[in-house]
Amino acid sequence: MKLDSHIGIVGLATMGQNLCLNLLDQGYRVAAWNLETQEAIRFAESQDNDSLHICEDLDELIQHLPVPRKIILLVRAGEPVDEVIAQCLGLLYQGDILIDAGNSHYGDSERRARELGEKGVEFVGLGVSGGSEGARRGPSLMFGGSDSAWQATKEILERTAAQSDYGPCLANFGKGGAGHFVKMIHNGIEYAEMQLLAEAYDLMNRGMGMSSAEQISAFERFNEGPLNSFLVELTARVLRSRQTRLDEIVDSAGQKGTGRWALEAGLDLGVPIPTIAASVDARAVSALLDRRLRLSQRISFDRDVSNAPSLEDIERALIFGKICAFVQGVDLIESAKEAHQWSLNIADIPKTWREGCILRGVLLDHWISEIEGTEPKSLIDVSYFWEELVRCDEAARIVLSDCMEARIPMPALTASLSWFDSITSGRLPQNLTQAQRDAFGAHGLYLWNDPDRLVHKEW
Ligand code: NDP
Repeated sequence: MKLDSHIGIVGLATMGQNLCLNLLDQGYRVAAWNLETQEAIRFAESQDNDSLHICEDLDELIQHLPVPRKIILLVRAGEPVDEVIAQCLGLLYQGDILIDAGNSHYGDSERRARELGEKGVEFVGLGVSGGSEGARRGPSLMFGGSDSAWQATKEILERTAAQSDYGPCLANFGKGGAGHFVKMIHNGIEYAEMQLLAEAYDLMNRGMGMSSAEQISAFERFNEGPLNSFLVELTARVLRSRQTRLDEIVDSAGQKGTGRWALEAGLDLGVPIPTIAASVDARAVSALLDRRLRLSQRISFDRDVSNAPSLEDIERALIFGKICAFVQGVDLIESAKEAHQWSLNIADIPKTWREGCILRGVLLDHWISEIEGTEPKSLIDVSYFWEELVRCDEAARIVLSDCMEARIPMPALTASLSWFDSITSGRLPQNLTQAQRDAFGAHGLYLWNDPDRLVHKEW
């Protein structure tokens, strides 16, 4: 079906090309521009589709589109987005809509929405999950923008998004940077899930000496139970590859910054997200490759797990860590929602992530069905999450103590257990911290027998 609507795309790298093809499949006409023209021409030639028009510059792209224009930016986050916006500004009319679908910082999206709003141009910060395959077949879309921009773009986004049993994987999370904030936390949870899976792989591979076939079968088995998810399936897939063995790959992980941004937001809002923090740090430690290689010459261990945990215990440890990451991430979204007065509905998040998304998996079905009609303060109060944490607690400890003994590092699982033990502990040793602060800095403290009065003591 050919639709009348015409959409602009700026940026034809991996994501831009795939989203462009997705829009063409939906029947839209697309005018596209890329900074490096040859790349755009090669792309157009490979498609031979008369609904796709490649423009020589931004000026042509803007003139080509009917007003009010809808232009999707898929350029590198940061300065390139500001550069493109600056070039567009003088050419856009009141009511035109710029949709930044890159991985921009939510604070930048808040600023851009404000600045463009003053000029009558609508700005949408659109979080996109699902990688290149998602962009091509239907991604998960996290919208942040005004109600009028939502009304004007909803149909296009619904057609472009992945579809699940709950409808299109798209939700309006509120104005300004709300969509990019939810995407940033999504990435933080993604870091955590990936780190937990890497820890399980390390335990099975280096600690337990399981063959590659045994590891594949373990992850395939995990994918049939409560851990069923894209990332577990992907783990089995990369282990199965005949092209590349994992031990051929340099074990130094890259990161583009969204994990670090999530930690900064946690610090700003005073919300602890230690499973996510440990996972961001784990990548940073892995990147200290020279130092690791040097120190491993000075001290060496065989890292055998003599007392190997069962596969059921490893599965439960993974469930435990994964739930901790989800609870922490969603606590942070709750806090940001309040701080920024975003209208976002937490119940929309699992529906948005259910398909097309890197975090898709059955855990989201439990989240959706259990919070229907309720308003829990935290995911930890949702029965499924709480009961799974309690059920998997012992296994997580068994796995961790076996790994500790064998010196297999488990940063994300360790952080998860310490966090759980702390938040379920009525008493913590921070009474000592308070005494120390008062003793060296006269910061004052509260006594249990008069908990509302700040007092200073002599030490
Ligand atoms: P990149 O993040 O690698 O960005 C490359 C694109 O940005 C190219 O089209 C490039 O043009 C353009 N660009 C860079 N500087 C400028 C500039 N000053 N003016 C105009 N255009 C510029 O590409 P991806 O396709 O991977 O990602 C696009 C966005 O989507 C990014 O924000 C990314 O973080 C986000 N994203 C990516 C995902 C993925 O799986 N790859 C998943 C979800 C989001 P040129 O070709 O001329 O260099």
